[in-house]
Amino acid sequence: MTENTILPPNHLREKRHYPLSDYWKERFGCKVYKITIDAGFDCPNRDGTKSSGGCTFCDEVGSFARHQSNLLKIEEQLRVGIETMNPKLRAQKYFAYLQAFTNTYGTIDHLKIVYDRVLDHPDVVGLSIGTRPDCVDRDKIDLIASYVNENREVWIEYGMQTIHDRTLKKINRGETHADFCNAMALTRPTPIKSCAHVILGLPNETHTDMMATAHKLADIGVDGVKLHLLCVMQDSPLEKVYATGKLSLMEREDYINTVCDFLEYTPSNVIIHRLAGNGHHEHIIAPLWLSEKMQTMDMIIAEMKRRNTWQGKKA
Ligand code: SF4
Repeated sequence: MTENTILPPNHLREKRHYPLSDYWKERFGCKVYKITIDAGFDCPNRDGTKSSGGCTFCDEVGSFARHQSNLLKIEEQLRVGIETMNPKLRAQKYFAYLQAFTNTYGTIDHLKIVYDRVLDHPDVVGLSIGTRPDCVDRDKIDLIASYVNENREVWIEYGMQTIHDRTLKKINRGETHADFCNAMALTRPTPIKSCAHVILGLPNETHTDMMATAHKLADIGVDGVKLHLLCVMQDSPLEKVYATGKLSLMEREDYINTVCDFLEYTPSNVIIHRLAGNGHHEHIIAPLWLSEKMQTMDMIIAEMKRRNTWQGKKA
């Protein structure tokens, strides 16, 4: 090693990116796991308000982990989620993740009832709210911000997917990148943490398009990023397109290289919520390698090390 050798920042030395698990360990002093909850919300892109078809990649459960019954009450879902966790993974604290459909789609009074119930559990140290950028306003953001305190954290996970409006139209997202920018303008000044969901491999997007999304997110200043690969889920509109042979999906090697490039442009303090895998892989039709989450994670880290690079090296 020469005197001029540049090394990754300490928190990136081992994994070359800044995973949510590491951040939570620093923040709460113990392991923290997400428990997914279906609080019974609908989605304006499915109930006819924006459209009735939904995003083309969305299955009939609104991206909810199907192993969990949405018929159970919120308190029951939390209890079952904690009790059924592998004892080896059993955490000391939990984050409730409102994942199914659009979890800010309701009146302020209704949202307050739901969030109060979720945060009532003594081992729940925070809340993650999955939603569409066009489904927040100042009142909702103020309500959500009111739950943040010294011992409790709240994230909003915005389904941004891409910055390119032509792609958002193609996947029937029913919103534009301007909606995401507006949502971030409301969220950024508050103590709420923001996470942008990004899908790599969307139809007709080039590598340059995906890197433009990485650059723009760095400029906008999100706290977290969750990377997904476009995949075909059972009962999603994409399933029919895939059956015609007209949809091409990313190969694993291409995905790994694209993720590494994306990470290089993502500032080193941005918390990475996910790099690989999918919460409900048993319902994936393609690509099947997506279910091998740990192998793909290992391959991404190995590639970062092979390149002698890390998250934010080019940011
Ligand atoms: S992905 Fe989200 S916004 Fe799109 S249809 Fe499904 S629940 Fe609605």
